[in-house]
This record gives sequence, structure tokens and C-alpha cells, in this order.
Amino acid sequence: MSKSRILVTGGAGFIGSNLCRRLLEDGHTVTSLDNFQTGSAQNHLDYLKHPNFTVIEGDIFEPLEEEADLIFNLACPASPPHYQASPIKTLQTSVGGVMNVLDLAVRNRARILQASTSEVYGDPLVHPQPESYFGNVNPFGERSCYDEGKRCGEALFYAYNSEMGVDIRIARIFNTYGPGMRADDGRVVSNFIVQALKNEPITIYGDGSQTRSFCYVDDLVDGLVKLMHSSIDRPVNLGNPVEFTVRQLADLVIELTGSRSKIESRPLPSDDPKLRRPDISLAERELNWHPGVALAEGLTRTIAYFDEGLSRTRPRLRGRQSNSIAVGRSLPHAEPIVLTLPNGFAKAGLSNGHA
Ligand code: NAD
Ligand code: UDP
Repeated sequence: MSKSRILVTGGAGFIGSNLCRRLLEDGHTVTSLDNFQTGSAQNHLDYLKHPNFTVIEGDIFEPLEEEADLIFNLACPASPPHYQASPIKTLQTSVGGVMNVLDLAVRNRARILQASTSEVYGDPLVHPQPESYFGNVNPFGERSCYDEGKRCGEALFYAYNSEMGVDIRIARIFNTYGPGMRADDGRVVSNFIVQALKNEPITIYGDGSQTRSFCYVDDLVDGLVKLMHSSIDRPVNLGNPVEFTVRQLADLVIELTGSRSKIESRPLPSDDPKLRRPDISLAERELNWHPGVALAEGLTRTIAYFDEGLSRTRPRLRGRQSNSIAVGRSLPHAEPIVLTLPNGFAKAGLSNGHA
């Protein structure tokens, strides 16, 4: 694969920071552009001093001037409590921001990949969801700023491709989890793990019978890279097709952590999809991609990540309050680094936004 100048917008977020690491490992020159709304430069710290890496603080809703051969547009908060906290900003990012990134692709003659989402299928009436399904989305509700914003993002990609000839890729990403998530992210995997590690109640919204299919971040990043280097210019589902109820996830997290946590019910948020599972036959056939990390294995790695982060906030374990954390992974050429606490770890409680 030839070496490229790659711009990752939203690079300081959960998926973005894992993607930047992988692209540097592959030998590319990488720029992360992020407004740090939900991400943090701390997510880059194990490769921050890599000679081929640059971080820029910037917002995709503002005009962009970077130079790149390839652009991954990941900029957008993905957790419901975060994107619902400022719905107008979510729409600005998803619509005006996407236009700015597409205009940048036009000026650079760059190939551009959009991080779209399974939310374009809404509360699906077809199960599992193939790319041909048009979805069942409420345009006037709590989730609509994100769901309709992402649907408009796909429409913009289609328009720039057909009218301006922009070279596009679209990944419809299903629920992804792993190291790099914030402790206060608010999504189900991070909430359950942090609650279990603290022996606090596990908050199940509704009766826990709703399903999701959880993809480990390394698998997802691999799919994004393969899609970028493919010739598929229509939407492609990327996710793990093994489906679990939220209740099963809670039980598994309790088992893997050995937690004393009890289950606590909370109201189900409005428009919460009842079922979600990707049909990934297109990605399997065209990208030769299939996720390889089973949920129990991925959760074990993610639990270790959160346990390490949380242990830094437990004075009794360290003798004194620590403000730094060791880094598990680092790249060649990157100097050893002592991190300040990752985003969210220092906070006392969890934000779930739904309680
Ligand atoms: P995240 O919230 O951890 O990362 C998003 C990043 O974008 C953050 O660093 C944030 O600061 C940045 N950002 C937000 N608005 C911005 C703006 N206007 N300008 C510049 N930067 C901005 O979320 P994530 O889970 O890493 O998701 C990354 C992308 O993948 C998002 O576009 C999301 O919609 C998509 N996606 C994620 C999932 C998932 O399960 N994680 C599922 C479907 C789609
Ligand atoms: N959920 C839950 N408890 C939590 C957080 C989420 O039961 O503490 C549920 C949520 O209602 C949804 C599922 O878990 O049914 C996945 O939620 P998440 O916010 O991770 O992502 P979504 O797929 O809804 O965007």
C-alpha cells in the first residue's frame, strides 16, 4: 500500500485515536483535527511525538485548509447523552461540517470516507439490517439530531460524488467498543464496565430485552482501512453480526469482572431501537472483512483498560492521589510518555443522560 497524507477529523475521539495509531503503524503521515468536544489530545499520547503525526485543534464547522490525499471524517459525538446535550451543534457538525470536509476533499482531490452509522436504520422493521434497507427513523425526537444528521451526511456524500465527482466511501458503523472510550462516555459498554468495577448498580434501560451487536474497535478500524482502500462508493455496514440483549451484556460484564453489582432498572429512552444486527455480507464479499474478536475477549481487554484507568483514581491503591497513567501501547519512534488521566476517569460519577 502506498504511503499517504491522511487527515482524520474527530481523530482525538474513541475510534479516531485507535485509527490514527493504526495508520501510523502502517507508515502513513497522519493529522488529527478535533475540537475536543468529546475527545481529548490525551488519547494520542502514546504516539503524540511520532514524527509523522500532527494534532490540530479545529472544528469542521469552520472552513478547513489542511492538505491530504485521504480523509476519514469521524468528527461527531456518537454517544446519545453527548450528541443530545447540544442537538444544534450535532446538526451543525453533521451537515455544515460534512460540507466543509467534502469541500476540502474537492480542493485536495482527496478520497474521503464518512463515518456513518447504523442509526440511519432507526428502530428497524427489517432484521438484520442490509444496506438496501431505507430505515425507520423519527425525524422529530431526541435521537433525530444524530440520526437525521447522519442520513443527511450520506445524502451530501452522494451529491458531491454525483455533481463534483468526489471519490467517496461510506461506512455504516454498528455499536463499537474498546480501549480509548471515556469512562463517562455514557454508552452501554463503558457504563456497565465502570459500574461493575466500582460495584455500583448496573443501569439497564427498559427491561433489557433490546439487542445490540458489539464490534471490538480493532476489528472496526481494520474494516475502515479496508473500505478506504477498496473501490466501493456505496454504503457498507461494518459491525459484528453476533447479537446480544442488553441484559445478556450486563450478565457477561458482571461475570468477567467478578463484580458484586446488582441490576437496577431505569426508564427506556424514547426511540431506543429494539433490535440491531448488521448484515455484513457486502463487507465479507467485497472487502474480505469479518470481525475476529468475540465479545467476551473484547470485553476482557476493555475491562483491563478501564480497571487501569480507574485504579489511578483510587488513592488507597496507590498510597496517594495519582494524576498520571501508564500507557499500554506505543509506537516505534514515539518517546515514552507519562499521561495525565484519560478523559472522564477523574470524574466522580457516570453521566448516562437518561436517568
Ligand atoms: P467520540 O465522541 O469518541 O469521537 C468523536 C470525535 O469527534 C471527538 O474527538 C470529538 O471531540 C470530535 N468532534 C465532534 N464534533 C466535532 C467537530 N465539529 N469538529 C471537530 N471534531 C469534532 O465518538 P466515536 O465513538 O469515536 O465515533 C467516531 C465516529 O464514528 C462518529 O462520527 C460516530 O458518529 C461514528 N460512529 C461510531 C459508532 C460507535 O459505536 N462508536 C457507531 C456508529 C457511528
Ligand atoms: N443502555 C442501558 N444502560 C446504560 C446505557 C445504555 O441499558 O447504562 C441501553 C440503551 O438504552 C440501548 C443500548 O443500551 O438500548 C445501547 O445504548 P448505547 O447508548 O450504547 O448506544 P445506542 O445503540 O443506543 O446508540
